[in-house]
Amino acid sequence: MYQIGHFIGGKAVAGTSGRSQSIYNPATGEVQGEVALASAEELNAAVASAKAAQPKWAATNPQRRARVFMKFVQMLNDNMDELAEMLSREHGKTIEDAKGDIVRGLEVCEFVIGIPHLMKSEFTEGAGPNIDMYSIRQAVGVGAGITPFNFPAMIPMWMFAPAIACGNAFILKPSERDPSVPMRLAELMIEAGLPEGILNVVNGDKSAVDGLLTHPDIGAISFVGSTPIARYVYGTAAMNGKRAQCFGGAKNHMIIMPDADLDQAANALMGAGYGSAGERCMAISVAVPVGEETANRLIEKLTPMVESLRIGPYTDDKADMGPVVTKEARERILSLIDKGVEAGAKLVVDGRDFKLQGYENGYFVGGCLFDNVTPEMDIYKTEIFGPVLSVVRAKNYEEALDLPMKHEYGNGVAIYTRDGDAARDFASRINIGMVGVNVPIPVPLAYHSFGGWKASSFGDLNQHGTDSIKFWTRTKTVTSRWPSGIKDGAEFVMPTMK
Ligand code: NAD
Repeated sequence: MYQIGHFIGGKAVAGTSGRSQSIYNPATGEVQGEVALASAEELNAAVASAKAAQPKWAATNPQRRARVFMKFVQMLNDNMDELAEMLSREHGKTIEDAKGDIVRGLEVCEFVIGIPHLMKSEFTEGAGPNIDMYSIRQAVGVGAGITPFNFPAMIPMWMFAPAIACGNAFILKPSERDPSVPMRLAELMIEAGLPEGILNVVNGDKSAVDGLLTHPDIGAISFVGSTPIARYVYGTAAMNGKRAQCFGGAKNHMIIMPDADLDQAANALMGAGYGSAGERCMAISVAVPVGEETANRLIEKLTPMVESLRIGPYTDDKADMGPVVTKEARERILSLIDKGVEAGAKLVVDGRDFKLQGYENGYFVGGCLFDNVTPEMDIYKTEIFGPVLSVVRAKNYEEALDLPMKHEYGNGVAIYTRDGDAARDFASRINIGMVGVNVPIPVPLAYHSFGGWKASSFGDLNQHGTDSIKFWTRTKTVTSRWPSGIKDGAEFVMPTMK
């Protein structure tokens, strides 16, 4: 049994609130640790430490700030195996998948090594008589990030890397289900040369989140999690005068046109639908084959593949996927599958009774494949966040396009086709933030930005890419005129460029 407290002022500290929560090993169902849930006093101490350290950090030249990330990237690589093991033990995903989680965060750290260039500003010489005008970007001050359980390395790094590189201090409130990796990342940042107080980790639940949303010294909030909480965090942060970017849930469709390479499409659906047990906000949970023949052939190909998924604990290096994160998540997924059956969808592969020998108390769900799902069904409308793929049959392209267009969520979408015209039309018309053409999980790389539309995102700036630099800085525009250009006497009319 291990204890996780908080990381404040450059060091790990024990929790003092008297409140804590168990950390489970999802493969065995055993309690392996305890995470402290912060009190208001602990949260205030973290914010005070961040606030005190931030001005000096913002005044440190950007090349020096970048060098901390150069070192940090090297340390992530050096500690990859330890971090991946730590991550899988609390999350349940396979070791290779955990490494992917870390590397996609590491890539954002690589991106912010360019911060001296990314923060360069604009200058206009001679905007008026002897007048120069320039815009600079300055750090917001103290920012906070609230992150979900499913990417305990990548999503904290999406947030703290650009925030800190821009000169902010940062408070991270990670998911209480898998807090070890975020704590270790904070330690490594200090070892890489980050001054104390610039990155703090406060573990906790709703009360810690509410403390951040209302704290007068926090200027910006970044959130990733489920849609109801994203909506709440966005509204509350805005009411309290903070800028906010909040990313929510998803229901990602993949359209398979009759001309698609069906083997490629089926393989793509396996990885995108069942990888990480479907617990990815960019997982494909709906396949939309166009035409009866495409649908029949696709089901024929997918069925044996789903039946032969290798499911195991993270220690099984041949496993395709592990358990889901908690007992509650498992129960929720199973009840949604039951509802799908009751509503008349055809459960072609039924993984509800899956049991793994030696891991009977683990939170495993076998791969499930539904056919004949329709848009009115709960399994279509709701984000299941488990290893369940629904096939919705469409008669033609327009009917297929209509499905993701009308869905509440708008995170990711993909089309499989050989027809360039269809792909181009699709990418142009679809009302979804991230589009894949023959790419099932179109997660943009670190130098582009990540974000959905509709109920998958609240706020107007995305994660990473140049959007993140804008989010974590404020623009200041300076107009300057030197005394030799100033005419004597007061001017009472609005100056124009006439
Ligand atoms: P969650 O919404 O339960 O929790 C996210 C964070 O919010 C956690 O830190 C949690 O402690 C906090 N939280 C939970 N309840 C709260 C409350 N009532 N008030 C204030 N804070 C609260 O999400 P989760 O289960 O950890 O993660 C899975 C969800 O995240 C899925 O819906 C998934 O689609 C989504 N997600 C979205 C993206 C994206 O980029 N759009 C990426 C990853 C995950």
